[in-house]
Amino acid sequence: MELYSGPFFEQARTQFNVIADYLEVPDFERDRLLLPKRSIIVSCPIHRDDGTEAVFHGFRVQHHLTMGPTKGGTRYAADLNLGEVAALAIAMSWKCALAGLPYGGAKGGVAVNPYTLSRRELEAVSRRYMQEMIPFVGSHTDVMAPDMGTNEQIMAWYMDTYSMYHGETVMEIVTGKPVDAGGTVGRREATGHGVVHLVNRAMERLQMQPSGTTAIIQGFGNVGSVTAQTLDQQGVKVIGVSDHTCAYFDARGLDVQAMIRHTEAHGVLKGYSTEALFDPLELLAQKCDILVPAALERSIDGPLAERLQCRILAEGANGPTTPEADLVLNQRRGEIFVIPDILCNAGGVVVSYFEWVQDLQQLFWTEPEVRDRLNRILERSFQAVMQRVERDNVPHRTAAMAIGVEKVQNAKKTRGLFP
Ligand code: NAD
Repeated sequence: MELYSGPFFEQARTQFNVIADYLEVPDFERDRLLLPKRSIIVSCPIHRDDGTEAVFHGFRVQHHLTMGPTKGGTRYAADLNLGEVAALAIAMSWKCALAGLPYGGAKGGVAVNPYTLSRRELEAVSRRYMQEMIPFVGSHTDVMAPDMGTNEQIMAWYMDTYSMYHGETVMEIVTGKPVDAGGTVGRREATGHGVVHLVNRAMERLQMQPSGTTAIIQGFGNVGSVTAQTLDQQGVKVIGVSDHTCAYFDARGLDVQAMIRHTEAHGVLKGYSTEALFDPLELLAQKCDILVPAALERSIDGPLAERLQCRILAEGANGPTTPEADLVLNQRRGEIFVIPDILCNAGGVVVSYFEWVQDLQQLFWTEPEVRDRLNRILERSFQAVMQRVERDNVPHRTAAMAIGVEKVQNAKKTRGLFP
């Protein structure tokens, strides 16, 4: 019986097999590297505001325990399923290993549309989810963080629920918390800042100047909005953005600050303006220098990859590019510089790691310290990936994933069968 299924899990499997072939991993070692160590499914009952009760499924997948505790985000989405969570946990393992963090990958979440819940219902779901997870997580076992549909407030509710159970404040049980509840400065912006740091490195290699270049960004949540704002601040013209409600495109440039103010007030882009509205499905295919998918997985398939007109594809989202699209992008290597997801969006988990370290030590860093350390880790990862690309003449994703998979494989060999 296949415990893990669905197109996103198959994507993780296909991507892994490409790497395993390239690294010549023997067949008998592959399942142990790919299949999650533990998967937990829970029911989260809550009282609705109208007096009825509702039950939501919660998930947590801990991919491997070989290199330390597991670490990974928590996603709230209506159609969330075990296969999707497992795929995201697996990607987290390669991402943490590439960045040199002492973690295995994890991911979790609740199958609920957070946009349909009142604040009280959201708090009830979040507290109940953490309560159900208490036997399975811990500061040195599995540490949660935000992902799509969750935010700093939800992390604070998790931390509080866990701490109340333990009778003491356990800040390091989750990362991505508000700064006044044990969070670190720079975590909220970390993923977007990391995306832009790496886009700048790619531009240097391609001898492009930020001023005068154009960007299109899919998704205007944490990752998308911070990426848009940071690119805008350094003189890149943001010409297209979208979220799940609508898309805007204007070749003369969009007012990113005004759009951020609108989403802060209304939660979504819809209603920002009646001008420059655009077909969301066509947005990614428009001509631009920098394209940043920062929303869903699998938003770039084979046919769309043929039509992309960008110079840099910076994968802010996890898994935005299907294996069929990868085949096309491999053919277009000279035209499109791909910054693969496990490198591009690693800023989030790197600063989450900093938050965990600071919480454990109760010694907090300044924002320049956080930024500087983040940039150094991203720099090291970027250089390692580019060296591998040049050494073996492989696509960027292959190089990035191979470094991660190899580290996990070596750790498993050294430790033995147990973890
Ligand atoms: P978020 O919930 O803050 O924002 C998600 C955004 O995507 C929202 O603007 C939403 O409207 C939009 N969206 C949803 N469906 C869409 C669609 N069909 N078309 C266009 N936009 C759509 O989530 P986030 O934290 O910004 O995460 C975005 C992506 O980045 C996810 O793939 C996530 O796994 C990945 N990621 C996030 C972090 C982090 O630190 N938050 C770190 C690494 C990777």
